[in-house]
Amino acid sequence: MKTCDVLIVGAGIVGAACAHAFARERMRVELVEASVVGGGATAAGMGHLAVMDDSEALFALTRYSQELWEALRERLPAEVEYDGCGSLWVAADEEEMKEVHRKRQFYEGRGVPVEVLDAAALAKAEPNLRGGLAGGLRMLGDRVLYPPTAARWLADQAASNGAGVRAGVAVAEITPEAVHLSDGSRIAAGVTINATGAAAMKLTPGFDVRPRKGHLVITDRYPGFVRHQLIELGYLKSVAAAGADSVAFNVQPRRTGQLLIGSSRQFDDASRAVNPGILGQMVRRALAYMPGLARLSAIRTWTGFRAATADKLPIIGPLPGQERHYLATGHEGLGITTAVGTAELLVDQVLGRPSRIPREPYLPTRFGQGATACPAALHCS
Ligand SMILES: Cc1cc2nc3c(=O)[nH]c(=O)nc-3n(C[C@H](O)[C@H](O)[C@H](O)COP(=O)(O)OP(=O)(O)OC[C@H]3O[C@@H](n4cnc5c(N)ncnc54)[C@H](O)[C@@H]3O)c2cc1C
Repeated sequence: MKTCDVLIVGAGIVGAACAHAFARERMRVELVEASVVGGGATAAGMGHLAVMDDSEALFALTRYSQELWEALRERLPAEVEYDGCGSLWVAADEEEMKEVHRKRQFYEGRGVPVEVLDAAALAKAEPNLRGGLAGGLRMLGDRVLYPPTAARWLADQAASNGAGVRAGVAVAEITPEAVHLSDGSRIAAGVTINATGAAAMKLTPGFDVRPRKGHLVITDRYPGFVRHQLIELGYLKSVAAAGADSVAFNVQPRRTGQLLIGSSRQFDDASRAVNPGILGQMVRRALAYMPGLARLSAIRTWTGFRAATADKLPIIGPLPGQERHYLATGHEGLGITTAVGTAELLVDQVLGRPSRIPREPYLPTRFGQGATACPAALHCS
């Protein structure tokens, strides 16, 4: 039976970032992926590296992660399409402008560079937005990248530091002694990290992680049509909507000149199929902000599943009472951003060293010791 120090299950961007970080520490790493590296939600995501202010904990993790991505910038190959376009939160009316000013105060107080735009400045910054908008907040440090190639690069870096990367074989079970693969083989690991995104509860049941479906559209190439990642301030209501299906205007310029148009959020729809009703709502919302999109050709539409938690924070750390079995899931709509911060928090925990940001808000133990059912395979005492 093969042995390693750290076995990571799932090679989406979170698992790949973990493999990269642990292999950098010269630990013996195995990364096991049921399908292809960077498939799953990672291939479906937008790749907006955004700092967020929903809570201090989300701010800390997104900001830390942005800094980590920026530190990698020089090493990222062209196909990762790392781009410093910044983001613009778009305010439709004076009510939303109040939110712009609240956000400005929040971010400036924490050293994040932002800029308030009035209506004229917004129109100049993004001429294809409709007239009559109130203004916006430019997030100068936000970035975008192409998630599947970023995940592949992280996994390749891990491999060049000695990590084993196996794609096309699933993990069937995690036990205290070993991880059992679907091909019948077993790997003994000092620590196992379940980074299987929205599927994480299949291997590690007991936490409230729910798939939240999203749709995206990609257009043909229209360089310069959009200059920033654009998000309506109503997006925050869409994210917060706990039950109902929701859509929000969210458009990203890609290095290729293509535009990614989103986004939607749906619980309770397990089908991968494009839902024409939601897609229609999403596109109408985009046209309400940017009518000129109607002249562009869309070339593809797809769906993906975010891993959502009730408190809107990821789950990063060892299971209560199971010090060798870690979770790295629940990143919802920010897993591309926060993959690298997640990986550093896990390395620090496994190596027993302090972290740059407090780790407590993300620990599985925040749900209480009894909140997780003991996975049968772990023979909990
Ligand atoms: C429409 C949409 C837009 C988004 N936009 C953004 C954005 O702009 N910015 C941002 O930061 N985030 C965004 N996200 C969220 C982001 O895509 C996810 O949070 C992130 O990709 C999660 O990565 P992951 O590695 O945890 O999961 P995944 O990418 O889903 O990877 C999990 C992997 O585990 C594998 N796996 C599952 N079961 C097993 C098993 N038993 N054995 C082995 N392997 C297994 C799967 O095949 C998969 O490859 C978006 C998501 C969606 C759906």
